[in-house]
Order: sequence, then structure tokens, then C-alpha cells
Amino acid sequence: MEDGKPVWAPHPGDGFQLGTIVDIGADSLTIEPLKQGQKSFTAQINQVFPAEDDVNKHVEDNCSLMYLNEATLLNNVRVRYSKDRIYTFVANILIAVNPYYDIPKLYAPETIKQYHGRSLGTLPPHVYAIADKAYRDMRVLKMSQSIIVSGESGAGKTENTKFVLRYLTTSYGTGQDIDERIVEANPLLEAFGNAKTVRNNNSSRFGKFVEIHFNEKNTVVGGFVSHYLLEKSRICQQSQEERNYHIFYRLCAGASEDIRTKFHLESPDTFRHLKAGPLKDPLLDDQGDFNRMCGAMKKIGLDDMEKLDLFRVVAGVLHLGNIDFEEAGSTSGGCTIKNQSSQTVEYCAELLGLGEQDLSVSLTSRVMLTTAGGAKGTVIKVPLKVEQANNARDALAKAVYSRLFDHVVTRVNQCFPFHSSANFIGVLDIAGFEYFEHNSFEQFCINYCNEKLQQFFNERILKEEQELYQKEGLGVNEVRYVDNQDCIDLVEAKLVGILDILDEENRLPQPSDQHFAETVHNKHKNHFRLTVPRKSKLQVHRNVRDDEGFIIRHFAGAVCYETTKFVEKNNDALHMSLECLVSESKDRFIRELFENSNNTKDSKQKAGKLSFISVGNKFKTQLNILLEKLRSTGSSFIRCIKPNLKMVSHQFEGAQILSQLQCSGMVSVLDLMQGGFPSRAPFHELYNMYKQYMPAKLTRLDPRLFCKALFKALGLNENDYKFGLTRVFFRPGKFKEFDQIMKSDP
Ligand code: ADP
Ligand code: MG
Repeated sequence: MEDGKPVWAPHPGDGFQLGTIVDIGADSLTIEPLKQGQKSFTAQINQVFPAEDDVNKHVEDNCSLMYLNEATLLNNVRVRYSKDRIYTFVANILIAVNPYYDIPKLYAPETIKQYHGRSLGTLPPHVYAIADKAYRDMRVLKMSQSIIVSGESGAGKTENTKFVLRYLTTSYGTGQDIDERIVEANPLLEAFGNAKTVRNNNSSRFGKFVEIHFNEKNTVVGGFVSHYLLEKSRICQQSQEERNYHIFYRLCAGASEDIRTKFHLESPDTFRHLKAGPLKDPLLDDQGDFNRMCGAMKKIGLDDMEKLDLFRVVAGVLHLGNIDFEEAGSTSGGCTIKNQSSQTVEYCAELLGLGEQDLSVSLTSRVMLTTAGGAKGTVIKVPLKVEQANNARDALAKAVYSRLFDHVVTRVNQCFPFHSSANFIGVLDIAGFEYFEHNSFEQFCINYCNEKLQQFFNERILKEEQELYQKEGLGVNEVRYVDNQDCIDLVEAKLVGILDILDEENRLPQPSDQHFAETVHNKHKNHFRLTVPRKSKLQVHRNVRDDEGFIIRHFAGAVCYETTKFVEKNNDALHMSLECLVSESKDRFIRELFENSNNTKDSKQKAGKLSFISVGNKFKTQLNILLEKLRSTGSSFIRCIKPNLKMVSHQFEGAQILSQLQCSGMVSVLDLMQGGFPSRAPFHELYNMYKQYMPAKLTRLDPRLFCKALFKALGLNENDYKFGLTRVFFRPGKFKEFDQIMKSDP
């Protein structure tokens, strides 16, 4: 950077602004903004970046810019977005900005056809280009592939995932049922697993990995969906502007008269689980969506009986939510069901196949096995207080609904079975790094997941880049990056990891969130990644203890977790009375929901003492299986970006977007590329591309010599490129420069 040349300097709203350096201090620079009439300001040297000569120019592959840094990336993405080019490559990584409107022809069938069999970079960046690369890699390398789609809520992960699935099934399917089913499974999954939130009107509240399986001939033979961490708290509680899962409103809005009567359905405002948030959203057509969902169910092969089973349980959960309790008024200290709720109990019992009396008893008391005085196994009934009964009711609703969701996924998987498969292409659609004002167990799990994915990303992008340089004999300095294994260990290490500490807490006779947080701090004094929140310190001082927590320094920034409810949220078990109640339902469907869950007989026996099924450790196991799978495949990455918080088109909030690029690890990729050789081309490709411009004498050389002779003849600066064994590597921006010389020279 020099005096007088344009630079990008920080800007609070836009992320960066153009300016020129007017003074250079020890570690700061004085910048004069290019915009007329604005005052000069100072900025830290490491936050000021060189700008390209022409800031209105944009490139398809960001690596063909001269200066690779977060500011030029942001600018390139901005210029492209303003021209409806929402996709940009950074080498092989695809950045996708959510346009929030349908860009004409962007996903049309003709576009799908165009991308068939075309190498990355020969056509404009597109999610189809990534899908086709994955397919070609699978075919050529005979190796399964995965596409990892990440980004914050509303960034477009689920939409892009659907485009990938549709691309692969239309392009490489058999033209039979199976193709359609893979695509149509989504509306069903979304009905049960998506909800309107403040960030996204159709927000997925679970993560998924969808595999499309191919046979030896590389034709689609089936699919398989794995799901992760359905958000259970939403079933019983939503914030003011958010809704419960779509299915509840759709059923109320769209069910036939017949079903409404049978399931005693009324409008959403009569149900506690629905009336906290908006009942209707102007952008959501619950009735139309209900019909579309029923259409999808039919297409994937669900019959009417199965459909009714699903709806019946959904209605049962709604009625369950309406049960109210009041103090019993006797000396027992317990509670009873309010008179007004008696009909509700009847409906609920009927829909879930339970005895009315059994349901009432199980909600208002809990069975315990005493171990006192060696008199092992004596069953006693403990009456519950109103608040405890409320909790029992909600726990039952959450358990029933989440088992129902598991069932929906299992059922979807039965719709595209396959006997044998040669390889698969898996698409991972899972929430990116989250950082809210209040962060709880859900954010903790999702950020842990993102640490693991970030490590995988580093392994694939940074390590492999290095290995390629080595393999090609480039002799480039080693690239350093921050390994986050220590952060992962902090969460998942045996015994001392936060997840195991939490499980230990759950197993105590009287677990507490406060004690859990203390144990975490005690076990990890002076851990680089862990600190005590300052606010909380203050409160302990004042004897306020309800929001104890810890701060973890993640790769994408520090996050303060409030440990309130960690213990409760980490437990997937129902108390024994409820567990017995549902597993002995007269209704076969309900019984099966609970049989198929991981709640085995064995753990039921154990439940006599303490019932605990760990949510955190189940997730850890699932995640490790997922990562093992990802490591055994070739991989591509799609980084989705949310352009603004208003969810509107044509609005680019630079600072917001910059922070997403930083969180996704793109900035370290740019650092790597700036110091390395991000553009590369195999000798034979260069030969084919340029031989037409060359005299015949030169074209008789073999491709490698041809390139050498060509570069010499053009007088290219030797620092700008390197010859590897199979290809030429270019410094940032240099390939483009070279290409322009070639094409402009007569
Ligand atoms: P995420 O899964 O990342 O939370 P979604 O994929 O659900 O986000 O996208 C949120 C909304 O943004 C979608 O419902 C849709 O309205 C809009 N959207 C996302 N991607 C696109 C796209 N490529 N074209 C048009 N609209 C899009
Ligand atoms: Mg989603």
C-alpha cells in the first residue's frame, strides 16, 4: 500500500469504504475517504487493505483479482450481487448470496442442461456447477462426494440444497419415481421441521444430511436422510414474533370437515401451543401449503391411513397443550386437572390411545422406585405441584412430537430404498455458527458442530492446498492456520469435556445448571478457549445465580453461553410414569413411536432410579459418524450469505455480510491464497486454449514445453507463476492478466 493509491478502510455500515492514505503512523493510518465532503479518519493498519484499480469490475473467480483480502472479496461479491450474479467462486468454494426474489431463468431446466458435464469455471459460478463437479468427481474418481452448505439462518442453505438435489435427480436420474420422491420428500420434512422465525419465514429447525445414491452406472438408485437436533423447545414455546412448526397451522387451516370433527380441531387461537405467536403470516399460505403437502405425501407413497396417523398425533399434541392444572387444595401439596380441561383430557387421551384416567394420573404424579433402607423396588407415587405438572405435560408433548418427527424421517427413507449403491453424493444442510444476545444449549451444540466442520474445512482446503504444492514440487513455504482441535477437545473430550461434565451433572440426584457451570470452570482453569463471563461474576457477587455461564472462544468469535436449562435440555428421557403411559398406549402407532426410539427396555429399567438420556452425547456420536463419512468422501463447500436482516431483495448490508464471510472461514482462505498460487491450469488445457494464437512451430511442442516457451516469449515475470509437474500455478490475478494478453495480442 502506498500514499495516494486507493485502499479499503473500515466502515461501520458498509464494511469497507474507499479512501487514500494521507499519513502513516506507527500502527495506524490516516485515511481520506474518496467520497466528497467526508472527514479523514484513522484506522488500524491491519484493517486497511489495498483496493483493485477498478473497483467496479467484478470477476467470477475471486482469485483472479490482484489483491486477495476480505475487502476486495466483499466488493467483488457486492458488485456481482448488484447485477443479480449471486454466485461467486473463491477457487473451488462457492459463495451464494440470497437474492430474496426469483431471478429469471436462474434455475430453469435450460440452465440445468447447460451445466451438464462442464468443468468448473467454464460457465458462470452456479450451485449447478458445484453439483455437476461433485457428480463428475464421483464418476471419475469412483468415490462418494459431499457438498457442505453452510451459512446463518435465512442465508439460503435449504433452497440451495434443494437446487442441488433437483439438479442431480433431473440430470442423472432414471426418470422414474425415485427422482421425484427425493425432491418431494422436502415439503414433508419442512412441514414438520420448519417454522417461521424472525430470521426466516421458513426456517429449518433441524440439520440434515441427504445422500443420493448411485449405482455402478452412476444413475440415481435411492436416497437416505439423516437428521440432527430438532429444536424441541419450539413445540411448547415460541417468542412473540415466531411460530410453532408449520404442520400445526396447516392442519388447522386445511383439514377437511371430516378430519376436523374427528380430531376436534378448531382455529389456531384456541390452542396454547399456537397462540403465543402470530397465528397467520401474510407471506404464508397455510391452506395452500396443506394441500401441497398432502400432494407431496401422495407422491412419495404415503397412503391415507398413514397420513391420518400423522395428523392424529399432531392434533393430540395440540390438545395436550391445552390441559391446565390447579392446586389440589388438600394437604398433599399436589395438583389436579382443572375442570375446564376435562374435555381436553378426553380428546387428548382418545387421539393418543391413552386411558383418560391414566393420562390424568401420569401428568399429576410421578412414580418412583425407592431404594431407601435396602427395600429396593418399592413403588411410590409422588404428587406433582402445578408447575411440575406443567413441565410433565410439556415434556410429553415434546417427546411425542420429536418421536413423530423421527418417524417422518424414517418413513421418508422408506420411500427411496436401494439395495446396493456404488457411491453417493451427500448434501449437508446444517445451521452455521450462531451468536445471539442470549445463547443456550442449542447454540452450544450448533457451534460445537461448526467447530468440527471448520476443522474439516481447514483440513480440506488449507492442508490439501499445501499437499498439492508439495506434490507438484513447488517448494512453497508452509501455510499456517489456527488449528481448533483444542476447542473441540474442550467440548467433547472424555470425562473433562463440557459434554461429559454436563452428563455427569445430569446423573446427580439433584443436578443444577449452576453447579455444572462451576465444574466446567474448575476443570479448565486457564484454558485458552474458556473464560468466566464478566456479567455473571458480578451477579454471583450480588448472589444472583440464575444465569451462570461460560464464554468459549470459537474460531469465529467468542460466545457467552448462559447455562440455565442446560441440564434439562440435555435430557431426552421422560419421567417413568409418562414413559410407561405412552409405551403402553392402545394405539399401535403411538406405541411404535416410542418403541423405535432409543429408549430401550434396558434404559427403562435404569429409569427406575434416574431417567436420563443424553442429548449432547447423542449429538456428539452422530456428528462423529457424519465427519467420518465426510472424511471418506471428496468434498465441495457452499457458503451462503444473507444480504440483509429485512429479508428483502436488492439490499446489501456490507458490514453484516463481512462478518458472515469472516465467520465462514473465508478470510483465512484468502490469506492462504494471497500468499500462494490460487489460479492454476493444467498444461494441456493451456495448450488447447492458446494454440490457435501461436505459430505452428510452437504447437508442435509438448504441452509443458509449449507453456514454457509461451511464457518466455511473453516475458512474464517469473515471480508471477510456477511450473508444477502437471500444471502451471499463478499468483493472484496473474492468470487473468496473462489470459487478457493472449486474447488481445494480434
Ligand atoms: P436457510 O436454510 O439458510 O435458513 P432458506 O434456504 O430457507 O435459508 O432461505 C430463506 C428464504 O430466502 C427462502 O424461503 C426464499 O424465500 C429465499 N431464498 C433463498 N435462496 C433463494 C434463491 N436462490 N432464490 C430466491 N430466493 C431465495
Ligand atoms: Mg434451512
